[in-house]
Amino acid sequence: MFIGHYGVALALKRAEPRLSLGTLFVAVQLVDIAWGATILLGWERVIIHPGWTAASPLQFTSYPITHSLLAAGLWAAAAAAAWYTWPTKDTSRHGRAALIVGLAVASHWFLDAIVHIPDLPLAGGDSAKIGLGLWNSIPLTFTVELGLLGLGLALYLGGGTRKHEVRPLLAVGFAALLAAAYVATTLGPPPPIVTAIGIGAIVMLTALAAIGGWIDRARPRKAAAQHHER
Ligand SMILES: [Zn+2]
Repeated sequence: MFIGHYGVALALKRAEPRLSLGTLFVAVQLVDIAWGATILLGWERVIIHPGWTAASPLQFTSYPITHSLLAAGLWAAAAAAAWYTWPTKDTSRHGRAALIVGLAVASHWFLDAIVHIPDLPLAGGDSAKIGLGLWNSIPLTFTVELGLLGLGLALYLGGGTRKHEVRPLLAVGFAALLAAAYVATTLGPPPPIVTAIGIGAIVMLTALAAIGGWIDRARPRKAAAQHHER
C-alpha cells in the first residue's frame, strides 16, 4: 500500500490535532522508511520481478525486521515511547498523542496486509504469512488506495479548528498530486535496481513528510491574530 497510508495519517490528524501532519506522515510510513535502509544494508531482501502481481513488480522475499506483525508492534511501541519522551513544554494530552503515533505506525502493517499477497510474516521469516492479495487486481488496488486517501482527506478537511487551521487548497493539491504520481508509477515501468528502490523509499517518504509538515505549519502568531480579528 502507498497512498492509503496517507489517508490514515490525514484522518488521525483530525483525531489528534496536536500532532503535525509531518509527524503522522513519518509514523504511517516509518517501517517503509526503515525498509529502504534494510534493503540497502542487505538485512532484508526484495526482488524486482515484473508481473509478480498486477499492481507491483516487487517480490518481498524477506522482511521480518520491518514488515512482520511482531515488528509492527515493536516499531509502534518505540515510536510512541519516543513521542512521549520528546522534550516539550506542552504536555497536555501528551499520552493520547503518543498513543496515536503508535497506532499510526502499527496501521501500516494492517493496510499492507490488504494489498500484499501472503508475504507479511507474523513474526520471524519462517512464521505464517499474511496478505489478502489485492495487488492481483489493478482496479481493486486503485479503488482501495484512492478510496482511503479520499476518505482521510474528507475527514481532515472537515476537522479544522481555530487552533489548527486546515489549508484546503494545499491539502487537496497535495492529495491530487500524490494520487496522480501513484497511478503513473504503478502503471509505469518497474524500478531498475534494488538500490534505487531503497534510496527512493528513504528520500521520497522523508520528502513527503516534510511537505506534510509544511502544509500543516503553524500560522505565525501575528498573522493568526489578524486573521482572528477579521
Ligand atoms: Zn510497507
